[in-house]
Amino acid sequence: MEKTKEILCIRRHLLDKKTYMVNSLKSKIIFMLRAYLEGKGFIELFPVIASPITDPLSSPSEAVFFDVYGHRFQLTKSMIFHKQLSMLTFEKIYIFSPNFRIEPSEKATTSRHLLEFVQLDLEIREASREEVIDFIEEMLIYLFERIQQEEEISFFGRKLPRLKRPFPRITYSEAVKKYGDDFENRLSEKASQPVWVIDFPYQVREFYYREDPQTGTMVDFDLLYPEGFGEAISGGEREWRPERLKRMLMKKGIDLDFYDIYLSLIEEGIPPSAGFGIGIERLTRFLSGVKDIKFTRLFPKLPGRFGI
Ligand code: AMP
Ligand code: MG
Repeated sequence: MEKTKEILCIRRHLLDKKTYMVNSLKSKIIFMLRAYLEGKGFIELFPVIASPITDPLSSPSEAVFFDVYGHRFQLTKSMIFHKQLSMLTFEKIYIFSPNFRIEPSEKATTSRHLLEFVQLDLEIREASREEVIDFIEEMLIYLFERIQQEEEISFFGRKLPRLKRPFPRITYSEAVKKYGDDFENRLSEKASQPVWVIDFPYQVREFYYREDPQTGTMVDFDLLYPEGFGEAISGGEREWRPERLKRMLMKKGIDLDFYDIYLSLIEEGIPPSAGFGIGIERLTRFLSGVKDIKFTRLFPKLPGRFGI
């Protein structure tokens, strides 16, 4: 009986006009981003969907492990390590990378978490944080200006903000002082332009960012959408020196053995790089103005809920 109800829900979702319009908007977004990146000389790589190394993430999510010829593989939570290593081959790369993260059931109410989502993952050899920030601002302005003309935007009656560079910035510590530890929602609600949050302390961030020895904070950023839509992007400069990476792992109390494959590869030398990941479903959610993220996928998998 319960199962029949779920099956009917899936069918209703597939037939919903909103699902149709949001997904056709998503397809246009992907097309425009690809055209933009090709024009800027980027190489598109295929995603890695399972690997012995993937992102540890800064917020809790259960990992999916399985055995492959005696090696412990995981489904990709982000391609961060592969992006860093691919800098040995190419200077500028991007991937539309599917991520699988078993988010805690409590996130069911955020309307912005999926278990299966796609990031546009991008990395640039020898780039600085400032260069990546400039790059993102230009890319978003390009996208917003073009997408505005599309019929899906008028279908949803969406009034997109006119983006103005540079986007406002706030440091992590200022954000906490003004809005509390859980600043993401409040800061995003107050904003009418996308907002950069920079300089996160290592305690709340993944170990692979470069730490600024002067300030002791990471050379990183998040971008928050305005109008309460929350986090859009995370990124920054990556640490590429094995000694510093090991020191950071130890500082965070992480067992070096867990990253032995990654560290062995890094020890042979990789170039410094910077990059970011932008969630495509969240971008589509913001551009369409349709708050419930389930409409951005035909087969959404939501925290704590059944999906196919
Ligand atoms: P993260 O590595 O956690 O910073 O994720 C990179 C980007 O992917 C975020 O800035 C979001 O845009 C998006 N993202 C992260 N987790 C989810 C999720 N559970 N559902 C949908 N999008 C997500
Ligand atoms: Mg993030």
